[in-house]
Amino acid sequence: MKTVLVAAGPTRERIDPVRFISNRSTGAFGYEIAREALRRGMRAVLVSGPTELVPPKEARLVRVGSALEMRRAVMKELAGADFVVMAAAVCDWRPRRPLVSKIKRRGGRIRLELIENPDIAAEVGRKKGKRVLVGFALETETLERNAREKLKKKNLDIIVANMLSPSKDVFGPGKTDVVIIDRAGHKTAARNKSKRELAEIIVGKMIQ
Ligand code: C5P
Repeated sequence: MKTVLVAAGPTRERIDPVRFISNRSTGAFGYEIAREALRRGMRAVLVSGPTELVPPKEARLVRVGSALEMRRAVMKELAGADFVVMAAAVCDWRPRRPLVSKIKRRGGRIRLELIENPDIAAEVGRKKGKRVLVGFALETETLERNAREKLKKKNLDIIVANMLSPSKDVFGPGKTDVVIIDRAGHKTAARNKSKRELAEIIVGKMIQ
C-alpha cells in the first residue's frame, strides 16, 4: 500500500502569545488531495496547519502551527512516504524574536523584524530519493515561467500553478483554473474545476 504525505493549510508565525502572521490559505486543496488518495486505496498522512476543515477520518492527522513545526513533521513523516504533496501555504517569513509577553500599546511605532523560513519543499526535493514530489505555486504574474523555475529549483516532479486574479478567489471552496506542469515540460490546463475535480487529475498524474 502506497502512502501519500500531504502538507496543507497555512502556517502561523508567532509575534507574541496572542498575535501571529499568517495567510489566506484554507487547506481545501490539500484536504481534497488526501481524500482522493484515500479513495484510490492509498494511505494518507495529513500534516495540517490551522484550518476549520474536517479532516478525512481515515487520514493520519498531524496538526502543526508554525513553518518550523511543519518542517519537523514533514521531515519526520518523509521516511514512510512514497508521494509528497506540498499543498501548504508556508509563511515565507517569521518574526525573528517572538515575544513571551503581549506587546503593549505605547503610542508611536513598533518595528517587527522578519526572517526567512526554511523552504520545506526544496528540502524534501534534496532528500526525495525515489519519491514523487508535487508542489504548488500561487502567482499574480508570469505564472508559467515562475512555475517552471520553481519546479526546477525545488526538484519537484509536478507543479500545480494557480493564478491569483482579482475576479476569481482561489482560496476556499470555489472553482479555479490551474496549469499543471511536469518535469518533462508537459503542460495541462484545467479550467473552472472544483478542488475535488482537480485533486482527481493531480493524483492521477502523480501515480502515473
Ligand atoms: O516559492 P513558493 O512559496 O511560491 O513555492 C510554493 C511551493 O513551495 C508550495 O508547494 C509550498 O508548499 C512550498 N513551500 C515550502 N516552504 C516554504 C515556502 C513554500 O515548502 N517556506
